[in-house]
Amino acid sequence: MPVGVFGGTFDPPHAGHLALVDAAVERFRLDRLVVVVTGLPPHKETRTDPETRLRLAEAAFAGRDNVEVSRHELDRPGPSYTVETARWAARTWGEAIFFVGADEFADFPAWKDPDEILDHVRLGVATRPGYARERLDTVAAELRRPERVEFFEIPPVPVSSSEVRRRVSAGEPIEGLVPAPVARLIAERDLYR
Ligand code: ATP
Repeated sequence: MPVGVFGGTFDPPHAGHLALVDAAVERFRLDRLVVVVTGLPPHKETRTDPETRLRLAEAAFAGRDNVEVSRHELDRPGPSYTVETARWAARTWGEAIFFVGADEFADFPAWKDPDEILDHVRLGVATRPGYARERLDTVAAELRRPERVEFFEIPPVPVSSSEVRRRVSAGEPIEGLVPAPVARLIAERDLYR
């Protein structure tokens, strides 16, 4: 039985992340899905320090029996390259499926060692509003092992972390966009102002 792995910056975690995780657990019948918080994203600025993002992810995914949050990338020095996490996952669990949203997959060939990533793990790509399937098939065709990539449908949730941050800084409500414990932490710690 493969272990599911879902990486993200989670700055902050939101309803789209939960929809992806729930659909992945169901579609791939996972007993275990590990949420890996990106320590130092190689291609992205974060607004919030890694320990706070870890805390936000723990709050977001609490209460899901099959889901746990890992600090593996926070404890590894240097930029958090997925290829290194994939090597670690294969060593640790044997078989693993890494989940990404369609927007991330569109950039996948530009990641560090994409073909090596697929030697270690399979990839589950979730649909996301605005990303056409034909374009994703073209991306998969560029890879050495496209058969290691599987697409799956999730309910469309048009939310992004950037939109949540924008709303908080504009003083707009975020109810329904993030889980309630995440909204509480954002308010308590005065994040994204
Ligand atoms: P930002 O707005 O800061 O770019 P984000 O909302 O894309 O952030 P990340 O933490 O970077 O959030 O995303 C982690 C993973 O979740 C990525 O693989 C991304 O594609 C996926 N994802 C994020 N939001 C959604 C969504 N609404 N529907 C499907 N997948 C999503």
